[in-house]
Amino acid sequence: MGLRKVFFNRTPQPLAVRLAGASRAGKLLAHGHWRKLFNYLLAEVQRWLGSEKFSARPYFLSLEPTDSCQLRCPFCTVPYAKEHHVLAYEDYERLMRELGPWLVRAELYKGGESFLHPRILDMVRLAKSYAVEVSISSNLNALPPGGAQAVAGSGLDVLVASIDGTTQQTYEKYRVGGSLEKALSNAAAIARARRENGGKGPELIWQFIVFRHNQHELEAAERLARETGFDHIMFRPGYIFDDPATKESWRSTLPEFSEEKRCSDDDTCRWPWGGVNVFADGSVTLCYMDREKRLDIGRAGELADMMRQGGFHRLARRLIKGLERGRRAPAGEKHPCASCPCFGQSNFWV
Ligand code: SF4
Ligand code: SF4
Repeated sequence: MGLRKVFFNRTPQPLAVRLAGASRAGKLLAHGHWRKLFNYLLAEVQRWLGSEKFSARPYFLSLEPTDSCQLRCPFCTVPYAKEHHVLAYEDYERLMRELGPWLVRAELYKGGESFLHPRILDMVRLAKSYAVEVSISSNLNALPPGGAQAVAGSGLDVLVASIDGTTQQTYEKYRVGGSLEKALSNAAAIARARRENGGKGPELIWQFIVFRHNQHELEAAERLARETGFDHIMFRPGYIFDDPATKESWRSTLPEFSEEKRCSDDDTCRWPWGGVNVFADGSVTLCYMDREKRLDIGRAGELADMMRQGGFHRLARRLIKGLERGRRAPAGEKHPCASCPCFGQSNFWV
């Protein structure tokens, strides 16, 4: 299979989301995951109806294994945080016992470098034992214990590698403290291990954030991605701090990469009808835009109920549907959805 090229900004998102949703239902059907399929369809119908009451269970998990990282990318908040955490494996186990039978997809990354969690591959294997599709995004400057063979054999479905340059000089301008050589050799080792496993191993995606200093390297990156063994290369605009001088010096002059798209143009925010977000400190929130701590992961066993019956989630559903129908959030409403910069639009894909 040849390398597939994706331009993040060119994908027509509402259509892509619908197609992804349809193909997800088809996959669940093909594999006989009736319980997951029924729950997923129930959640989607209730979202479509704009129902404030909700009787399904979360089918998407966004989870941060750790919020520490060995690199210091200038527009990332992780390196400057006062405290760093590693999610307790026992808490993850408890969470999976409650949600695993219903989950369709889990993203085991957010801020931080997931491969620095000492039990990251056990986390993948546990999710796979519940037939959950799992993806990880990594800077690939380090591999977990067991190396490339262990990654390929873990059952991980998708691995996104963040590599924004084809020379050490361009790469390290953003990936400060990182080694291009290490990232590429780790990717090549996983691709090799996958070949040796008869093709079993994660789909490999090279994610290239396009800034002004690396915008001349897109073709070279494509060549290198092919040689290294990636399946896809995805070019996307970068998030740049709001200060105008910084924006001016970093942002690409290529029109399609000059503006980061912070909110998707998908139709409805799915979070309160199907998502759960867990940070590395064990706090559980409505979605990844919501930074207010809501519930402790130690109370797993109550998460699905919190989502279905809790007033906080009910209000989220009411506010999002109101916006869809052209209403504004009531003035003074104290809820993350009422002040969300991507109100009703910051979605996950399944
Ligand atoms: S590699 Fe990722 S988590 Fe680490 S500093 Fe860079 S953007 Fe942040
Ligand atoms: S509207 Fe914003 S804050 Fe509310 S659930 Fe969606 S993404 Fe989260």
